[in-house]
Amino acid sequence: MLRFFAGPMGAGKSTLALQMAYNYRSAGREGVLLTGPSRDGRMSSRLGVAEDAVQITESSDLVGVLMGSSFAVVDEAQFLTPRQVEQLAAVVDRAGVAVDCFGLLTDFRSHLFPGSGRLVELADEVNRLQADVFCWCGAPGLINARIEGGRVARSGAQVQVGDIGSTYRVLCRQHWAYGITEKGRS
Ligand SMILES: [Zn+2]
Repeated sequence: MLRFFAGPMGAGKSTLALQMAYNYRSAGREGVLLTGPSRDGRMSSRLGVAEDAVQITESSDLVGVLMGSSFAVVDEAQFLTPRQVEQLAAVVDRAGVAVDCFGLLTDFRSHLFPGSGRLVELADEVNRLQADVFCWCGAPGLINARIEGGRVARSGAQVQVGDIGSTYRVLCRQHWAYGITEKGRS
């Protein structure tokens, strides 16, 4: 299968890409990690994980690069040329390689990257990734707040065992500090 996971910056694409490669290897498969020209030959996530990857340039022949692999995980897939996307599709169809591509769908003007557009046209699956988690106010969600009786809990065991009526909600730092769990509530 050829799959395309598209999302904005900060959606955790590289993290997911590395996770995907890990999963394939755990299943006993061997493959390659590919990344765009901007990444210095490393695929790295904001979580601090990094691996060596083959850097793709406009002239890379992906049929050759994927030779003998059972999977390929491609980060920064927006930098693929349409021709390279066609090469990936051909490798999937002829050799049964699993190819997962991660990248931006559109550029700063909101227009499709050529490679991303070709992926949308040819991929078996196109998935749009969620952006980061946000507080109800729209600010970045920072704290996984524990809510008890409608209030932000300030004390208790770090890990709760069993169902004791608590829920969790992601809040920004400010609304966690003020204990405001939703609009119009304090
Ligand atoms: Zn907030």
